[in-house]
Amino acid sequence: MAAGQNISSALILDYLHSRPRSLRWREWARGRRYLLTRFGDRSRPLIVLAHSSRQAGSARQVSLSLEQDWLEAPGHCREIYDEILFRAPGLVVIQLRRNNVCACLGHRHPVVREEPFAESHDAFRGVDMGEIDIAYARVETWQALPLSDTAMDAKFLEGSRLEDFHKEQLRLKTLSVVLHEINHLVSPQEPEIAIRERSLAFYHDALAHYVENALATLSLTIDRSFSRLG
Ligand SMILES: [Zn+2]
Repeated sequence: MAAGQNISSALILDYLHSRPRSLRWREWARGRRYLLTRFGDRSRPLIVLAHSSRQAGSARQVSLSLEQDWLEAPGHCREIYDEILFRAPGLVVIQLRRNNVCACLGHRHPVVREEPFAESHDAFRGVDMGEIDIAYARVETWQALPLSDTAMDAKFLEGSRLEDFHKEQLRLKTLSVVLHEINHLVSPQEPEIAIRERSLAFYHDALAHYVENALATLSLTIDRSFSRLG
């Protein structure tokens, strides 16, 4: 276990392709897919989104939230996770699920169970690994912060903007759950309440920032159309 090491996605892709053809074929036939991603401005951790072929769209949304929405979140929100992400395992497997039997949004796994990553291999160069799961259908229906969410919702009366807002809201919820579970991986002893407070604050501030920007561009468009009328 070499904490603090990084691993490149090319190395992992090479490794996945180098496994026996029969094994890869069986995996492909049963619909197992891997999508590699990272937080937009970070070299670690490398994230492997383990999903089924039917979940390709959801996996893409999760990777978008890490690559883009993370970058668009205000600096102070990201700084709170600076050290947590720095101390995170170099490679984190996220098992994407529709739902969890226990109705949780996600979990930290005590060991890596995803088959290609469960046993150590030279290709991993001794990087440390961790695994979590995310239940995306559960995240979709989750009322993260009912009061402030409704207040923000009310600011978007127009159909297409309200739709954009809901899409952004879902991606930020997903992002906050991923951060929450990585926080558990990094500090297994930290109480749930402290971890939850941190991830909800991230979600709230990042969403408020999005709303502020969206409303600013909205009023700019209204100003322009008024001046055209004048
Ligand atoms: Zn938790």
